[in-house]
Amino acid sequence: METIRKAAVIGAGTMGAAIAAQFANAGVPVLLLDIVKPDAPSRNALAEGAIAKMLKTEPAPFMSKRAAKLVTPGNIEDDLPQLGSCDWVVEAIIERLDLKQVLYREIDAVRRPGTAVSSNTSTIPLAKLTEGLPESFRRDFLITHFFNPPRYMRLLELVTGPETDQDLAAKVANFADLMLGKSVVKAKDSPGFIANRLGVFWLQTGVIEAMDAGLTVEEADATIGRPFGIPKTGVFGLIDLVGLDLMPHINASLAATLPQGDAFHATNRDLPLIKKMIAEGYIGRKGKGGFYRKGAKGREAIDLSTADYRPAQKAKAPDGRDLRKLLTQSTYAWRVMGQTLAYAISLVPEAAEDVHAIDEAMRLGYNWKFGPFELIDKIGADWLAEKLAADNFPVPALLTAAKGKSFYRQEGANRDYLGTDGAYHKLTRPEGVLMLEDIKLTAKPLLKNASAAVWDIGDGVLCFELTSKSNSWDQQNLELLDKAIDFVPQNHKALVIYNEGSHFSVGANLGLALFAANIAAWSEIEKLVASGQQIFKKLKYAPFPSVAAPFGMAVGGGCEILLHSSAIQAHAEAYIGLVECGVGLVPAWGGCSEMLARWAANKAMPRGPMPAASKVFEMVSTATVSKSAANAKELLFLRESDGITMNRYRLLTDAKAKALALAVSYAPPEAPTYQLPGEDGSVGFAMAVKDFRKKGLATPYDEVVAGELRRVLSGGDADIIDRPTEQQILNLERAAFTRLIKQDGTLARIETMLTTGKPLRN
Ligand code: NAD
Repeated sequence: METIRKAAVIGAGTMGAAIAAQFANAGVPVLLLDIVKPDAPSRNALAEGAIAKMLKTEPAPFMSKRAAKLVTPGNIEDDLPQLGSCDWVVEAIIERLDLKQVLYREIDAVRRPGTAVSSNTSTIPLAKLTEGLPESFRRDFLITHFFNPPRYMRLLELVTGPETDQDLAAKVANFADLMLGKSVVKAKDSPGFIANRLGVFWLQTGVIEAMDAGLTVEEADATIGRPFGIPKTGVFGLIDLVGLDLMPHINASLAATLPQGDAFHATNRDLPLIKKMIAEGYIGRKGKGGFYRKGAKGREAIDLSTADYRPAQKAKAPDGRDLRKLLTQSTYAWRVMGQTLAYAISLVPEAAEDVHAIDEAMRLGYNWKFGPFELIDKIGADWLAEKLAADNFPVPALLTAAKGKSFYRQEGANRDYLGTDGAYHKLTRPEGVLMLEDIKLTAKPLLKNASAAVWDIGDGVLCFELTSKSNSWDQQNLELLDKAIDFVPQNHKALVIYNEGSHFSVGANLGLALFAANIAAWSEIEKLVASGQQIFKKLKYAPFPSVAAPFGMAVGGGCEILLHSSAIQAHAEAYIGLVECGVGLVPAWGGCSEMLARWAANKAMPRGPMPAASKVFEMVSTATVSKSAANAKELLFLRESDGITMNRYRLLTDAKAKALALAVSYAPPEAPTYQLPGEDGSVGFAMAVKDFRKKGLATPYDEVVAGELRRVLSGGDADIIDRPTEQQILNLERAAFTRLIKQDGTLARIETMLTTGKPLRN
């Protein structure tokens, strides 16, 4: 299938600019057009301004500064003819049907036939958007509804009309999946599509029921968040995040377009408190605050009855392990989730073809851990139906049809879902998607202990999976990796290091390290450091290729395993770094030696031992973490030849393919040679740190930690003419680590990190 080589986005506002950035992140050139602003210094001022602003925005829309160069700013008066060279035009202008239609006619006059045109509209039906437009335009038109922020939200709702060319829609969906990294969910042409239709109902119900029950916002959020696998922002925290000011617009639009009798109308009440908050600028985090705000003395929450702020109180989240019990004991949980789940059921098939589409939309559009139908299966469809009926809530037809059944069932390797016809249908992954989760349905691990497992993922490739808490490294998973390295060459070709947790790995298990330090079990700690070094080196020089596939956080030991793999296939959202200094330590599983070798071999580095050592010193002492996989390439955590996968679902497939490609003619690497700056370098680093201290950028204990780091990176007592071996640098790492872990300053840092999740600046 042909793909999209060049794209255009029209409307350089919140969404349009960030959608253009995601095309650029995918390496695709994109034109970003907006109107000409009278009196502006440049005719492209709006698009130019949007690009400049995005380079300063956090979380960043661009994965690297380089990507920004792929976005060409322009305006709709001068640059529309350039659409003739684009394969996909995304319209993301303000939500006004009349303006959108005028623009479509202008686009149609210049585009090539077969160029896809899509709207990012949140509320206007496709049938309305294309009314009166030529048939040739209607054939190439669809809705692609991105979520905010488009780089980070993985959901893309795709709506086609009866006349849309399905091959063209498939081409757009395929590109959005592979290149933009989106999970494409097909939605019907109905108001609010899927995620917002259900999400807004849930939010609105959450607000009204809390007010009616006289709950505090903290109690409401604690009840409706975590116990249901919903982010802890719950209802009020989420409204603060998206902005209170958006709510009345979305509600009004849904109220105007949803059919009479839709359950939404009963929730769409006038809420004087919210009106007052918006009028006074309390529109959420982007304004002066919302239901929560930062007060002079800490976090505050609004009193829903008096509209006054008071200090926020910690509300205890109820136990979510038994959801039936929770729904029986908490009237609030029941009234909000009971009605929301019932509404979700009523959306099939009106808004979505099947239950899976609704679940995926809520998982990826609202970050729910479980979709509504997965939640219903936990609760029991029959139990839900009975409780709804007992409380005089309508029982949706599909729930009645599900009597005695669950919405999902597992049959061998298949996961089936219940269709509207009352029969089960096979759930299929998009073509080419391989998930460990699926392999586990029928396979048994080849090797396994309490912290890791090894799976056969086919074609001679094995997968090493960390299974410990937060995928941290401990003695057990190191031992299993050691075993796996011996196991692979017996009957297999390559090893992939991958898992499906929330993050790839947070590094060594600090809790264990702290425990050992508190009982002065120094030999245990030394053993852990030494075995980590030895096993990672064994992986590096093994006779078969290994491919590590990081996603999310890969820090500390989670980064060092990457540095010792033959190659990396990273998810685009990989946050990689050596963060040990933050907890008062230095990287000691080869992190220093590997980064020194990489920077020294970098062609852009000036000659001599100092520049590479300085660069590594700067990165490690400041615990630099990449902001994306593309940024990790700039920091040399990834090599130029390492791969980046945009869609999280495709990471294992790509890593396996890379491993197989390497296995064709694999030879382990040669050991690098080192030249380090010696005493002079060490003095130079010390001066730099002193300077940081003077400027207030480094703390007293930073100086102690940096003191150990500079010893490692300058080569210890080695003279500049000495050529230390890899092993000598590893010895320096180990010695520095063991000295630091015995110090109170380090233990205080580790303890703070474990209890608060934040670094201690002692
Ligand atoms: P916005 O107000 O931030 O930006 C709209 C941009 O369109 C402005 O820069 C404006 O100058 C430009 N514009 C207006 N008329 C134009 C025209 N005729 N030609 C070219 N440019 C024009 O709006 P937004 O929040 O980015 O929303 C854009 C679209 O995306 C809307 O359809 C909205 O419903 C949809 N949407 C928004 C969100 C969100 O969270 N903001 C999420 C999903 C979808």
